[in-house]
Amino acid sequence: MGQPVSRARLLKRCLDCGDKITKRAGRGRTMQYRSIGDLSVPATLKIPTCQKCGTEWMNGPIAKEIDAAMEPKFDRRLREMACGAFAGIGKSISPSDLADELGVSKAELARLKNGESQPTPEIVLKLAMIAAR
Ligand SMILES: [Zn+2]
Repeated sequence: MGQPVSRARLLKRCLDCGDKITKRAGRGRTMQYRSIGDLSVPATLKIPTCQKCGTEWMNGPIAKEIDAAMEPKFDRRLREMACGAFAGIGKSISPSDLADELGVSKAELARLKNGESQPTPEIVLKLAMIAAR
């Protein structure tokens, strides 16, 4: 999605096609957010969008709004991915070996498994790799 624009003020015209930019909300949008390529965008979040070519243009304040809206979704997706990986790993590896491989304590491993601790993208990646082998 969109192009980061480092301007304090919103663009009025698209830098790609020159058409008008309006703030657009809507359902069914997804965006690349941090390491996840298809995170759904809240329908109410207004993003400056070119009327003609659909390019989304972000500036500082909009980027902050997007972060605020997307960060909880990103965290939730990471938890879901960790949960799926834990299910895939099952009992194929002992908890202490798993904790070692992840570089966390056994107590932290238990919190991650129970969903009490927010997994980092790195932990989720390691879990997915362990689950896949
Ligand atoms: Zn355009």
